[in-house]
Amino acid sequence: DRDGDGGPLSGLDPEQRAAATAPRGPVCVLAGAGTGKTRTITHRIAYLVRQGHVSAGQVLAVTFTARAAGELRNRLRHLGVEGAQARTFHAAALKQLRYFWPRVVGEEPWELLDGKLKLVGQAAHRVGVSTERDVLRDVASEIEWSKASLVGVEDYAAVTARLRRDLPAPAAKIGEVYAAYEELKSSRRLLDFDDLLLHTTAAIEQHRAVAEEFRQRYRCFVVDEYQDVTPLQQRLLEAWLGGRDDITVVGDANQTIYSFGGASPQPLLEFTRRYPDATVVRLERDYRSTPQVVSLANSVIAGARARPAAARLRLVGQRPAGPEPVFNEFDDEPAEADAVARRIRELVDSGVPASEIAVLYRVNAQSESYERALADVAVPYVIRGGERFFSRREVRAALTALRSAAGEDSGHAAGAGSPADVAGAVRAVLEPLGLTAEPPQGTTARERWDALAALADLARDFAASASEPSLGGFVTELEHRASAQHPPTVEGVTLTSLHAAKGLEWDAVFLVGLTEGTMPIQHADGSDSAIEEERRLLYVGLTRAREHLWLSWSLARNQGGRRSRRRSRFLRGVAPDDQPGPGADGRTKGRNGRAKASCRVCGSRLAERAEVSAGRCAQCPSDVDEELLARLKEWRGRRARELSVPAYVVFTDATLIA
Ligand code: ATP
Ligand code: MG
Repeated sequence: DRDGDGGPLSGLDPEQRAAATAPRGPVCVLAGAGTGKTRTITHRIAYLVRQGHVSAGQVLAVTFTARAAGELRNRLRHLGVEGAQARTFHAAALKQLRYFWPRVVGEEPWELLDGKLKLVGQAAHRVGVSTERDVLRDVASEIEWSKASLVGVEDYAAVTARLRRDLPAPAAKIGEVYAAYEELKSSRRLLDFDDLLLHTTAAIEQHRAVAEEFRQRYRCFVVDEYQDVTPLQQRLLEAWLGGRDDITVVGDANQTIYSFGGASPQPLLEFTRRYPDATVVRLERDYRSTPQVVSLANSVIAGARARPAAARLRLVGQRPAGPEPVFNEFDDEPAEADAVARRIRELVDSGVPASEIAVLYRVNAQSESYERALADVAVPYVIRGGERFFSRREVRAALTALRSAAGEDSGHAAGAGSPADVAGAVRAVLEPLGLTAEPPQGTTARERWDALAALADLARDFAASASEPSLGGFVTELEHRASAQHPPTVEGVTLTSLHAAKGLEWDAVFLVGLTEGTMPIQHADGSDSAIEEERRLLYVGLTRAREHLWLSWSLARNQGGRRSRRRSRFLRGVAPDDQPGPGADGRTKGRNGRAKASCRVCGSRLAERAEVSAGRCAQCPSDVDEELLARLKEWRGRRARELSVPAYVVFTDATLIA
């Protein structure tokens, strides 16, 4: 039990204890990653309940993601506290709104909007704006930013003009779409996610009876990850408090990673100005990670520009020494993914549970290589916070286009010569769908491009490895891969974006794709504050690791591709400048290309020439019973199909509402 099992104070160090036992009133814990902030608040709740200061039902603890809220509930249950609420802001608001709605509005509660993009599209159509989906997504997130920042329809144009935000369309147009969207939404009696917070706030602020009842019900508020609170969430918090000050906040300004969505560490940093008599506790001991991981994280964040004093926290590792973090450069992405998957296989074979391993990346489209590589080594995985690759809209569209191209192709294919260049044929189909030579600007467009480029890479691999490559064969291969994506498994290696990894921890963490353009992301370039947010994001990633930490990047996107990428600037002075020759897979740097052959006994990929010609890896015996081998193969295929079934969790809805 990682949380200490005795009373509410067992397993706390003196500073944590001071925060946990502070008398009722404002408490603020400002501390770095892994110092036990989340542990401290659960113990504080247990302590206050045990001491009779509040009853469990009067406690409302809020945090950022459904997974984090689930963790809080778990930890509380462990400490014997039943009935305290631990929810995301959105889930808490939804519950309250359902309760108050009939009284405040006097009718059936409105429904939660499903498919926001569609409504944004209709709004755009109404005001005569291009209905291209990529633009719509950016407009939708702009609307989210506005609402989270408490910028109403009327103020939008003025505020954005002042902030000179980089927008995908003229701000005036977005303002019109925003207004039309709000109108359409309420005429259909629908609520979006931000409305949950807005309406709950309004119900408490504007209805005295609601406010009174609410204040009777909840008396003690706790906020985890307070460095990422939005103005809207802060306003709701104020409404909940109603001038009272029984509030405990914990956070780490170095982990603010949602400022693009309107979040800000300011309320955390100004907490003591707001509540001059607050109990303030700083924690410095890092209980999560080995000293090696801690020191690496310290150096990366020390490179940050202009950090407020309160964010200048150093971490002191408490755990025994562990393995050195590993830095690896690869020729191309497939080689990187293969090496990661193999290393994961080794860890799993050596007893590390798959659920204690995570691969973290900057954009969700990066998951494809890792999905494939992990399936190849038959390690189960779970995708969090992103869409499964083959469920992506652009990938489905591409598959349809490829299918019809393959149909035409086989139509004239009686003659020879038309299966000659599958990769080229695939590119030709993907280009009109948006696969330009260079990646475009803008988050959504870039993700879409990455997904198409991943398909083009698959085609190259297929062309190089299939015995008779044809477009039809490639489509069949894709369909096969897509159908291997079944309902979720629970246990497995976590594949997730850095954003969704916040607050969590694993024994082994792989930070992949650490190149300029991906980490920091291309569109952050040119803005200091955006680059700094990328740095914090990397810091969040590094500090998720308890023991094993792997950082890697590749010089080319695909096998044999142009080696034009550069290692992330954040690794300057941190990574050893001489790259170790062999990567973790034993292949020396400079040898291009991923081995295609796999061991006929254990199925692992073969890298060495001698192994390839023998058809088996050095570890496997040569005198294998052929019948046994056939059975093994069959079993492996089945396992791979059973195991490689990623879970599908959408970041928005499912993540925000537990
Ligand atoms: P983050 O900033 O990443 O959210 P955090 O400050 O919330 O980190 P926790 O998740 O609470 O940190 O704790 C990190 C790890 O250290 C957990 O595994 C926790 O159980 C352990 N831990 C915390 N405090 C102690 C302690 N006093 N003794 C032993 N282990 C501890
Ligand atoms: Mg935490």
